[in-house]
Amino acid sequence: MFFPSISEEFAIETIKTAKEIQTRSEVLRKEGKVIAFVPTMGFLHEGHLALLREGRQLGDDLILSIFVNPTQFGPGEDYESYPKNSENDFKLARYEGVDVVFIPTAKELYGDGFQTYVTLESLPKHLCGVSRPSHFNGVATVVAKLFNIVKPHIAIFGQKDFQQLAIIRQMTMDLNFDIEIRGVQTIREKDGLAMSSRNVYLTPEQRKTALCLYSSLVKSREKIQKGEKKASVLIREITAYITSQAETEVDYISICDPDTLEDVDQIKGPILIALAVKVGKTRLIDNMVIAP
Ligand code: AMP
Repeated sequence: MFFPSISEEFAIETIKTAKEIQTRSEVLRKEGKVIAFVPTMGFLHEGHLALLREGRQLGDDLILSIFVNPTQFGPGEDYESYPKNSENDFKLARYEGVDVVFIPTAKELYGDGFQTYVTLESLPKHLCGVSRPSHFNGVATVVAKLFNIVKPHIAIFGQKDFQQLAIIRQMTMDLNFDIEIRGVQTIREKDGLAMSSRNVYLTPEQRKTALCLYSSLVKSREKIQKGEKKASVLIREITAYITSQAETEVDYISICDPDTLEDVDQIKGPILIALAVKVGKTRLIDNMVIAP
């Protein structure tokens, strides 16, 4: 038997230990229930809710995890200051029909003497992996651990983090996790800005500037659909546009193969345009898959 702790105020079951949620999932699996899982770092917004809605449709049981994973943050990044609002997260989770929220501590997941990491060979060498060299080791490691802990049948991720989704799909295949990975399209604000927990860091001026990521993707799509074939021309134009905006600093702008993430010179088939830009101190990412 397991004894879930119920937060009375938000009346949602929360579990903090790996053992407890493993036991719970085992019971559900024996009953033939389909478990859907949405891993997050909390501070939930409409993007996360889209994932939860997909999970609610697909599973008999819907598990949300909220864990700000220390191993995916590099030195000087925002691990300590990552935005939090547990009260609101629990309210939203309940509203979306989540059955259980898994909220482990870092000590629970990375106890004394932790030494096993999941590393992929080539996908992390591109895009965000260049300026965040240990980031995807941390992501792959925590997702592998969460898969073993939560034991889901289906796990749902956002296409907003395109490289992360590609890495998780690859890891799932390589390590034979018997889990279906679902990707959900990027949810955007009305003006097109991709929703992100980090948007809260933006000042009103920076919030306006931040739209340059999405606008440059839309402009590039128009150009590609009108016949532009040269990636270098598009990258030059995007760079010029973004750097003309106040307080921006380009981390990368890449036009690449959506499967391998290798750079593409001539656009012949579907490509991914992915970019990361700092607006003030806030690093934002966005992407679009475009077919010529
Ligand atoms: P995070 O809490 O930022 O780690 O994100 C948790 C999950 O939500 C990841 O699978 C993200 O890709 C997904 N996600 C974050 N923002 C969005 C968005 N705007 N649209 C769709 N999915 C998102």
